[in-house]
Amino acid sequence: TRVLLTGGSGFIAAWVLDLLLQQGHSVVTTVRSRAKADAIKAKHPEYGSDKLSFAIVPDIAVEGAFDDAVKSDPPFEAVLHTASPFHYNVTDIQKDLLDPALIGTTSILKAIKKSAPSVKRVVVTSSFAAVFDPAKGDNPGYPYSEADWSPLTHEQALENMVAGYRYSKTSAERAAWDFVEKEKPNFTLSTICPPLVLGPTAPWLASLDNINTSNARVRDAILGKFKENGEIPPSGVYLWIDVRDLAIAHVKAMDVPDAAGKRFFTTAGYFSNKEIVELIRKNFPEYADKLPPPDVKGGDYPPGGVYKYDNSRSKEVLGLEFMSLEKSVVDLVNSLKAVGEQF
Ligand code: NDP
Repeated sequence: TRVLLTGGSGFIAAWVLDLLLQQGHSVVTTVRSRAKADAIKAKHPEYGSDKLSFAIVPDIAVEGAFDDAVKSDPPFEAVLHTASPFHYNVTDIQKDLLDPALIGTTSILKAIKKSAPSVKRVVVTSSFAAVFDPAKGDNPGYPYSEADWSPLTHEQALENMVAGYRYSKTSAERAAWDFVEKEKPNFTLSTICPPLVLGPTAPWLASLDNINTSNARVRDAILGKFKENGEIPPSGVYLWIDVRDLAIAHVKAMDVPDAAGKRFFTTAGYFSNKEIVELIRKNFPEYADKLPPPDVKGGDYPPGGVYKYDNSRSKEVLGLEFMSLEKSVVDLVNSLKAVGEQF
């Protein structure tokens, strides 16, 4: 399949790209700069430009950002849209989080409808943030599934960065479904709603300072930050998925006819920051000095319990199986060691 993958420099996109190439697909990926394209290319020297090439899209928040990128010879059959800001280095929630998420999503859908009639399936990376109701908090026993939508409002989004990120994902995913309903385009849509994503970093990560947001807690643990602070920070969310399983979810959502028109709540199950610390302690005795003591406070599940999850659609329609938290954390820590300089 000829595939356009947006945000190729990202953590999740790195693994989606790897899987697409391994399966023999022909991929164009968008990045913000030539330097980022070169860094990705350098990690895939075995693929010629017929299998891996690049389109430069410096800012997805600009209307029409993807107008050129969607045009290709041979033409695209599928588009995977992962690019969206997931970080909290934010000065202006509207400009830095909400605009790129929403305009990025609507501009690629408009461009596909206008200039890429050969595209049959679009997969958008949404989030558990578009599912979860922050006002209900731990919501003990409540079974979250694809039927749930975050009720956050634009006004709430502007109150703080976490709400801003959550609303950015909610509004972008809603806009994608609205677009398909109103515009009746040439393609069908699937959306993927992962909670916290863990696992080995992108192979071109050059410094631990640039680690992606969801893996940052594991870096912080092995750099001794939890020990220094005398507590483990709250987990924030209690569900996770490994990035390699999430890559499979994206590629299956592109391939499987039955995935058309569906959201997928892709999660392996529960995790807590405390469990992550204990898995590092068990598997990496060399970090014993950096980790907080076993009886340290913080990072555990709430005493009153937490929400449930229903991941049956991902298993049934996409055939997903989920790797263990231990394997994911071990492989992530090993990937951080390979980046290295601070160890
Ligand atoms: P990364 O930060 O590693 O990747 C984000 C990607 O989006 C990068 O390629 C980045 O480019 C690109 N991007 C962001 N803003 C812009 C912009 N304005 N213009 C052009 N490109 C932009 O994060 P992840 O890989 O974790 O996230 C990928 C997707 O997965 C996002 O949609 C995110 O919301 C979603 N997600 C992630 C979860 C997680 O736990 N990691 C959980 C749920 C959903 P550059 O590197 O050049 O800045």
